[in-house]
Amino acid sequence: MAKCPVCGAPLDWRDIIDQMLTLDNFSELLKSKDDFIKALEDFTFKCPHCGEEFYGKFLPKDEAEKVFDLLNDFKGSIDWENKKVRIRLNQLLALDKMLEEWDKRVKERKL
Ligand SMILES: [Zn+2]
Repeated sequence: MAKCPVCGAPLDWRDIIDQMLTLDNFSELLKSKDDFIKALEDFTFKCPHCGEEFYGKFLPKDEAEKVFDLLNDFKGSIDWENKKVRIRLNQLLALDKMLEEWDKRVKERKL
């Protein structure tokens, strides 16, 4: 799970993306995974726990890629008027990881 590189506190992807929603071209970024990841890596985030700033490149890239998919898969995932993420990204990521593990186990059993 994503952690603050300064204080180590766990971060909520919803907070992270909320910060990125201040970008004027955010809706454009959702059209291309490469553009989204690049913008995320260069973005300066502020940790809600310690208040320190850090670059998005310190966040786990595999999770960032899944966040991109989740934001695109769920209709209405973003409240554009209030610039807020509506879906619980951390819970969905955890669920996604669990299903992956389960899938792996089922496949191993078949071999
Ligand atoms: Zn922190």
